[in-house]
Amino acid sequence: MHARKVTVSRTAPAAALLAAVGALAAGNASGNPAAAARAGAQDLPPVSAATSLLVVAPHPDDETLCCAGLIQRVVHAGGHVSVVWLTSGDGSELDMLFIEHRPFAAPAKALELGARRMREARAAASLLGVPAERQLFLGFPDRGVLKLLTINRTTPYRSGFTGATAVPYPDALFPGHPYTGESLERDFAALLARVAPTLILAPTPRDAHPDHRAAGLLATATAARLAGSVQLRFWIVHGGEGWPSPRGLEPGLPLTPAPRIRGVTPAVFALEPAEEDRKLAALRAYNTQMQVLTPFLLAFVRSTELFAADP
Ligand SMILES: [Zn+2]
Repeated sequence: MHARKVTVSRTAPAAALLAAVGALAAGNASGNPAAAARAGAQDLPPVSAATSLLVVAPHPDDETLCCAGLIQRVVHAGGHVSVVWLTSGDGSELDMLFIEHRPFAAPAKALELGARRMREARAAASLLGVPAERQLFLGFPDRGVLKLLTINRTTPYRSGFTGATAVPYPDALFPGHPYTGESLERDFAALLARVAPTLILAPTPRDAHPDHRAAGLLATATAARLAGSVQLRFWIVHGGEGWPSPRGLEPGLPLTPAPRIRGVTPAVFALEPAEEDRKLAALRAYNTQMQVLTPFLLAFVRSTELFAADP
């Protein structure tokens, strides 16, 4: 609905990236013996005061859904936790439908929604123990991240929601930086240099949401350049086939592996009851999301979180 006419030709690296997305989306691990052999469960690195955790969240709320338990554990151990939000969630059509009572509001309303979701993200992250100076927003366009990494590497992308072609939020880390793939990669690299993570939790490139797939590819490419100094683990939010099931608040149940990561055995992180309670409290900070997606979001408040070593 918001697709824009593409006038820029795809470059060779972009084509390769798209092929990688396609292969991952098709779940190639199950048909490839070497990949299948690597797909056994691999433990999470031990958590200690030396841990510097970076959670890569495509949108406000993803960090809580995927990782609220592990975030609290690292904080409790005396380690550092940083969260980076690639977008400010300023393009949620469902939000617009429920909050504005129409699916596509004016750009000013989309910017207002983005600013509101950033405030909610700060509240949620603070509840989990992430200090304000480690709550980092890049302000890239909701629903546009994959396009930046493919067809808009050098030509700025225009958000169909906010109308912006550059980061419009004064609160973001680099306000005014253009909406291009090169700019996103530069900003992400600068952020990694600042945070110096030992462990990155990123969305798997197999997620059904294009922003999540793009975030996973970005993290994978960057971590490969850091070779050896950082561990990368993957989580999923849009896991396919009605996952997580059952929907709604069932805090005693473990989270089951998502259909879209079939062939991968993730490491299981068990939450303490108090960590689960706080995960729920953080989720409730997202008023805009809880109005429209409640049973889906609550289904992530489970006794376990899952992190895979393979994308
Ligand atoms: Zn998301």
